[in-house]
Amino acid sequence: MELRLTPVQVRNRLILVARRIVADHRLDAEGICRTCGVLHCEALAAARGYLARVEEPRRPLVVEIHRRAAVPPPGVTATELRIAAAALPSDAES
Ligand SMILES: [Zn+2]
Repeated sequence: MELRLTPVQVRNRLILVARRIVADHRLDAEGICRTCGVLHCEALAAARGYLARVEEPRRPLVVEIHRRAAVPPPGVTATELRIAAAALPSDAES
């Protein structure tokens, strides 16, 4: 039985381990790691650094809706849409 992991599987397992490290190495009110008992927890810093590089940022839902709304419907050009938007009263834009 082949036990080799694909690069995606390795990445996903590293993400799970890093998340577990972040959960386990919580800091107390003074910034001291509850697991290691030190002020600057290297495990926590490494896990957070890894996650910051590999995890995809979650886009706010508002941005997704805005992008879809910005695509003109079939038969309408972007210029026509811009002209129509400019004709709207200013309080209707928000
Ligand atoms: Zn720690």
